Amino acid sequence: MPPAGQFIDGAFRPSTSAATLDVVDPCHETVLAQVPDGTAADVEVAVAAARKAQPAWGGLTPKERSQILLQIADRVAEHHDLLVNLESANTGKPFEVSRDDVASTIDTFRFFAGAARATTSQAAGNYAADHLSVIVREPLGVIGVVTPWNYPLLMAAWKIAPILAAGNSLVLKPSEITPLTTCKFAELVADLLPAGVLNVVTGTGPVVGAALAGHPGVDMIALTGSVNSGKAVARAAAESLKRVHLELGGKAPVVIFEDADLPAAASSIRAAGYWNSGQECGAGCRVLVHESVADAFVEHLVKEVSSFTVGEPGAGDDVEIGPLVSRPHFDRVRGYLDRAKDAGIRAAVGGSALDGPGFFIAPTVLVGLDSDAEAAREEIFGPVVTVETFSDEDEAVTRANATAYGLSASVFTENAKRSHDVAGKLDAGTVWVNSHLVLATEAPWGGFKGSGYGRDLSIYALDDYSRTKHVMHNHGR
Ligand code: NAD
Repeated sequence: MPPAGQFIDGAFRPSTSAATLDVVDPCHETVLAQVPDGTAADVEVAVAAARKAQPAWGGLTPKERSQILLQIADRVAEHHDLLVNLESANTGKPFEVSRDDVASTIDTFRFFAGAARATTSQAAGNYAADHLSVIVREPLGVIGVVTPWNYPLLMAAWKIAPILAAGNSLVLKPSEITPLTTCKFAELVADLLPAGVLNVVTGTGPVVGAALAGHPGVDMIALTGSVNSGKAVARAAAESLKRVHLELGGKAPVVIFEDADLPAAASSIRAAGYWNSGQECGAGCRVLVHESVADAFVEHLVKEVSSFTVGEPGAGDDVEIGPLVSRPHFDRVRGYLDRAKDAGIRAAVGGSALDGPGFFIAPTVLVGLDSDAEAAREEIFGPVVTVETFSDEDEAVTRANATAYGLSASVFTENAKRSHDVAGKLDAGTVWVNSHLVLATEAPWGGFKGSGYGRDLSIYALDDYSRTKHVMHNHGR
């Protein structure tokens, strides 16, 4: 377990409040640990530490910052098993998922260590007579970060690595449901970073998150979470006109044409719809399949989904689906399934909760839905995939885009011209062709429309966490 307290200015310190939050094991519904229920006063101290530390950190050369990021990656790798176990204990994730999270965390730090040294920019030049323009990329300053519970360590890494690479300091609030790996990470890297560069304040969104979003000493607020939380931080940020970076929800459409390789598509959705128990913003959870192949596709998908092993992480390496993260989220997902049943929607497999203890839901495929059905429209965020049918390409594209979200989408077809065309028309920040949910640290991740704005991963994240300055020299003589 991480030490008690808030990680501020290089060490764990007591919160300004004695109140604590329980951290619950979702497999057994027992209390694993307690963390401080942080306050606005904690945020005040953390922001002051981050402000003090930022100029020296931002003044290091990219090479110097890069070396520290590489040391952080190595430190995480040395504690791989510990972080895997802690993440699985707090979230109920199968070890396979936690291993992937830790491996991706390491890769994220290594990528940004390299990217920090290889930024490109407009060339210096005489764009006005006798005036030399030099474009400088500067850190923004102090970034406030708010992370979700579905990938606690990995989502923290997606923020921390580019923010530090670009020369900023930060104050991060992990989800109150899953703070353990973020606090442990802070402990593990404490001796590698100058005090105050990274600060972690635990607590709730409406208190600690809101204090960060509204704080005049914070230059940007970056949140990964739900649409409502995104709107709340954007509203709070408006008062101080700070920059906002939002990675919000998704409801990814998967368009399967009549010429698609149906077994391959079903196998892709087995992974993309159910990874992390479907608690995944990019999950391929809303299938639109051509009516002529719908029955055949559903048969393949049901076969795939029936082969999942559900259980707690410790039940064995073959476990692929764990519990949902918390009692409120479990009740929420169950509510979607109950209402779908009441509306006459058929579950081709699954469709209900599994016997407790623990927040387990059977991997589910709902079939025969209309596009306006609640389960087809709203982000369920559980192991539930819905299947609708369409008659022609225009209808498929129109319906795929008829959603408030725009994070990701996919198209399955063997026709190369159609795949280019349809990928261009789908309104999403990431579109896969004959695949879904494969990510690369080099490629940007982020949404359109209700899924937010700003990009994680890739050099685009470095752009987001820095600002350009034009310095112009008059050298006329
Ligand atoms: P959430 O919005 O409930 O919580 C996310 C974080 O926001 C938490 O730390 C929470 O404490 C904080 N928060 C809540 N209210 C706040 C407020 N008023 N001000 C500031 N902070 C506040 O989301 P969640 O349930 O933890 O995560 C699931 C959501 O996150 C889903 O909608 C999912 O799609 C989204 N998500 C998106 C991505 C992406 O990359 N786009 C990645 C992971 C998760």
